[in-house]
Amino acid sequence: MHGFMGKILVVDLTGRKTTMLAKDAAYYRAHLGGAFLAARLFEEFMAGEDMQDPFGPGNPIVFATGPLAGVSVCGSTRVNVLSLSPETPGIFASQAGGEFGPDIKRAGFDALVVTGASETPVFLDIRNDRVIFEDAAALWGQDRLSAYNRLKAETTGNASIATIGPAGENRVRHANVMFEPDHYAGRGGLGAVMGAKNLKAIRIGGNRPVAFHDAETVKAINKAGAASFAASYKKNPASFLGVLKTYGTFGLLMLNQDVGNLPVNNFNQAQVDDDRFQADIDHETIGTTAVGRRNPCKGCYLGCKKNSATDAGHTALAEYESMALLGPNLGITDLTQAMEASEICNRLGMDTISTGALISYLMDGFAHGDLDEKELGFTIRFGQADAVCDLIRKIARREGKIGNLLADGIDTCCRELGPQTFRHRRFAKGMGLPAHLPRVKPGIGFGYLHGPNPGDHMKAEHDWIASSPDDLKGFNIDVTSDVFALDPAKVTIYRATQIYYAAMDSLSVCMFIYGPGNILSFDDIVRLVNAATGFDFTFDELMAVGERAIQLQRRLYTAFGGRDEDLLPYMETPIPGGPTKGNRISPEDFAAARAHYYKIWGWDTGGIPG
Ligand code: SF4
Repeated sequence: MHGFMGKILVVDLTGRKTTMLAKDAAYYRAHLGGAFLAARLFEEFMAGEDMQDPFGPGNPIVFATGPLAGVSVCGSTRVNVLSLSPETPGIFASQAGGEFGPDIKRAGFDALVVTGASETPVFLDIRNDRVIFEDAAALWGQDRLSAYNRLKAETTGNASIATIGPAGENRVRHANVMFEPDHYAGRGGLGAVMGAKNLKAIRIGGNRPVAFHDAETVKAINKAGAASFAASYKKNPASFLGVLKTYGTFGLLMLNQDVGNLPVNNFNQAQVDDDRFQADIDHETIGTTAVGRRNPCKGCYLGCKKNSATDAGHTALAEYESMALLGPNLGITDLTQAMEASEICNRLGMDTISTGALISYLMDGFAHGDLDEKELGFTIRFGQADAVCDLIRKIARREGKIGNLLADGIDTCCRELGPQTFRHRRFAKGMGLPAHLPRVKPGIGFGYLHGPNPGDHMKAEHDWIASSPDDLKGFNIDVTSDVFALDPAKVTIYRATQIYYAAMDSLSVCMFIYGPGNILSFDDIVRLVNAATGFDFTFDELMAVGERAIQLQRRLYTAFGGRDEDLLPYMETPIPGGPTKGNRISPEDFAAARAHYYKIWGWDTGGIPG
């Protein structure tokens, strides 16, 4: 077999047993890898009556890689992690960069399935076929960077390490998984699933060769992609990809501020009205004050990942989502303070997006008099950076009433703190909304409200594509839609690119490289997949993989009670100022969009697949 190792490693933590499953070429042609393979393996291994409980031993957690990983192909190193989510009802797939995906393959596997639960803290040490269950008592309670550094110091040869922090150990519902020191499977609370299994860390590596069917063609397409990107960067360094290359996603702060697409004060505004903030996020400024050396995923010629310029002790430079949600969204316009809040989340092991959305919900509640300081014994106001850092620590450690409430997620908060707080919720089925505003990008906002993967900004192309007939041609779509509209055409376009993204997630690749109109053409991608695997996919067949992947994930999502979110009341309110002033989503447009979406997917009127 080419591009695949042909084997899945299954580790049962309860019985401390391992199994190696062989899969044939037909299985891989049907699923490829990544999120689709992970969903299929989840379905095969979910077990027992406690399966409805994300913290039960019957809930498997799957780490899957893709057919292009393991040899130096730009953007191919991502790992997809999937499990029943503690944060949203249903399954959730999250992904991260780094070398964990390729190291799964170097160990001889396409995916790792972890089932059961250990009675005591454990870390898995996997080297080729050898799996050791190591005692992790000494690591338990350590923040992630400390745990990683300790394991790294003891590592011989190439290997990658996944760890959770105290938040995962404490089953904080938005705890995440860290890969190496700088990469995060941030969403869906999958770190808490590891915590419930008493699984502190996984170290994996090996020396199994990864073989491609036609390695020369793979190399040539990769090289041509690098050359074409270098030429376009030279021509226009200020383009979206140029900004990513020079400043990482940190540079998107300025782009989104300028167009009025930044969450400010709990998503109530879309732009910061502050000259100092505007000057601080200027690209030339951040080039010296914030953005440090390149720290890319291996083999990546774009290299969006950066170190911090100011603090070598920090994990990687904060991403745009973290800066936006823990900065302006909390009324914090000092970049250093937002970076600090992000770093604390990273060390303790919590998703920065949901953490930011939980704290801004509280702040908005206090600002509108819907929460009572005396009753709660606690208060927090927009702009209070020190209080934010304290609260993040409390959540990760489940300290006191407020720490425990937020650790249990938005639904518990709304239930305990009262229905008057509901209007401050910026969540889709438990998932905090990312920093691309639904009222500015209503197509992507519509996607946030629909499972599988609610609240995820990386599951379809953003709204710009809807008004670009040339880019839509590749999807055989001949309708267009206004960037700010939510109409049936926008939904048709959303679905087509959703399928495309799902196909790319089945390859486990980075969308900055493989996104439509970015670097590689559709033809390049098809040739790359076929050269790596020896399969004979057409573009339409590759899209059919994506379509089946969504249908399976949707079926699993709804089977565990996952349903779509209603339009949040704040989305109906016009944006009060800035370049996107007046933007809103009307309930009528939303209802028509949802009916159209269910129809074109062939789901029933409740959104359930047949
Ligand atoms: S663009 Fe960024 S996230 Fe994507 S592969 Fe390159 S460094 Fe990694």
